[in-house]
Amino acid sequence: MTDVDVVVVGAGAAGAMAALHAAARGRRTLLLEKNQRPGLKILISGGGRCNVTTTRSGADLEAQYGTRRGRFLRHALRSFPPTAVCAFFEASGVPLQQEDLEKLFPVSQRAQDVRDALLRRCRAAGADVVVGTAVQAVGRRGDRFVVALPTGEVRAASVVLATGGLSYAKTGATGDGYAWCRAFGHTVTACWPALAPLCVERPWVRALQGIVLDGTDLAVLDGQGRERLRRRRPILFTHKGLSGPAPMDLAGDVEELQGQAQVRFDFAPGIPREALEAQWLAAAAAHGGRRIEALLPSELPERLRAALVAEAGVDGTLANLAREARRRLLQAVKDLRVPVPKSLGFDHAEVTRGGVELAEVDPRTMQSRLQPGLFVCGELLDVDGPIGGFNFQAAFATGRLAGLSA
Ligand SMILES: Cc1cc2nc3c(=O)[nH]c(=O)nc-3n(C[C@H](O)[C@H](O)[C@H](O)COP(=O)(O)OP(=O)(O)OC[C@H]3O[C@@H](n4cnc5c(N)ncnc54)[C@H](O)[C@@H]3O)c2cc1C
Repeated sequence: MTDVDVVVVGAGAAGAMAALHAAARGRRTLLLEKNQRPGLKILISGGGRCNVTTTRSGADLEAQYGTRRGRFLRHALRSFPPTAVCAFFEASGVPLQQEDLEKLFPVSQRAQDVRDALLRRCRAAGADVVVGTAVQAVGRRGDRFVVALPTGEVRAASVVLATGGLSYAKTGATGDGYAWCRAFGHTVTACWPALAPLCVERPWVRALQGIVLDGTDLAVLDGQGRERLRRRRPILFTHKGLSGPAPMDLAGDVEELQGQAQVRFDFAPGIPREALEAQWLAAAAAHGGRRIEALLPSELPERLRAALVAEAGVDGTLANLAREARRRLLQAVKDLRVPVPKSLGFDHAEVTRGGVELAEVDPRTMQSRLQPGLFVCGELLDVDGPIGGFNFQAAFATGRLAGLSA
C-alpha cells in the first residue's frame, strides 16, 4: 500500500493549486484525477479562453460572493488576490490581459495554456499527478486517511478534497466529494445550478431571440416582489428565454426561489419614472402625431420597442396616449416583470450554488473543523461567484490555502 503525506482528489483549478503548494513545502503529494484529461473545466471555460480572474480587489472583490460567502473567503482572497494570481501565471509563462467586464484572460487566448501551466507547476514542485484514476472512497483508519482506488488503497496524513460541484457533469464533476464530506459528519447545503441561462415561457420573450441588450437593469424578485439581486450587464434573448452575463448571474437566486422567482426589466435605468413621464408629456405636447414607439429609448432595438408597446396594450399616437395607457407603458419600460420558473439546470450551469457548509471549515486553512487533516476547497465548498473570473479566483485561493496547510 502506498503511503504519502497528502492526497489531493481532483485535478481541477483548486486541486492543482493545492497539490503544487503542498508539494512545494516538501510534502509527498499525490494528485488523483479520474479523467484522462485533467482540468477539463479549465479547458472549456470562457469559450476555450479561460477567464482566469478579475481586476476587482479588496472588499469590492469579497462583496461579489455575497456577505456570508465573501466573509468566509476574505482571508483566502486577501492572501492570494487577483494580482497574485496574475503574477503566478505570468511567472508560469502565461501572462494575462484585461478584457470587458474587468475580466482577465491569457494573452495567448488559450485555456489550455492555463491548464498546462498548473500541471507543469505541480510536477515541478514534485507532486505525483495520476490521471484516469477515480477515487472510490475516502475514510479514516487510526491516524491515517485511507483513499480507495480501483487498483488498491493509498494512505495519507492529509486529504484535500477538490472534486468540484455538480455542474457540467461530463467534465467529471459528479458530486463525489459531497458524499465523503457527509460521511465525515459535514453538512452539505442544498445545491442549485448557478450561472445558467434562464428558462422563460412568455412567448414575447422567446420571440425576441437574437436581441442583445447592454445597459438594461435586470433584477430577480422573490414571491413577495422583493428584490434579491440586480445586474446591469449584457442580456441575450434566446429561443428558451434569457442568457448572457446578467441573466446567468441571477440563476442561482432563481433556483433557490423554487418556482417563485420573477425577473424585472428596467429598460431605462438611468432615468427615474417621474422624469421619464415628464419627458413623454413634453413630447406629446410638441409632436402629438408621432407613433407611441417614438417615446421608448432609441437605443432599444425596434423589435423590442414594438414588443413593449404590445405588452403595455397601447397603440396609436402620442396625442392619444391617455393617463392609464401612459402608466402601463411606464410600467413596461421601467418595471416589466416576467415569471422565471427555473434555469436550464446543471447541464448548462457554470457553477453549483451550495456545498460543504462554510461554518464547518476553517477559512484560514480550509481544514475541516470536524475532521483534522481533511481539507475542502474549490467549488465543493458552499461558495459561488458571478461571471467574470470569480469562480476560478475562489478555487485558486482556497486551493492554495489547503495546500499550504495540508
Ligand atoms: C462551461 C463553463 C465555463 C466556465 N468559465 C469560467 C470562467 O471563464 N471563469 C471562471 O472563473 N469560472 C468559470 N467556470 C467555473 C469554473 O470552471 C469552476 O468554478 C472551477 O472549475 C471549479 O474548480 P474546482 O477545481 O473546484 O472543480 P473542477 O474544475 O470541477 O475540478 C474537479 C475535478 O475533480 C475530479 N474528480 C471528481 N470526482 C473525482 C473522483 N472521484 N476521483 C478523482 N477525481 C475526481 C473531476 O474530474 C475534476 O477534474 C466555468 C464553468 C463551466 C462549466
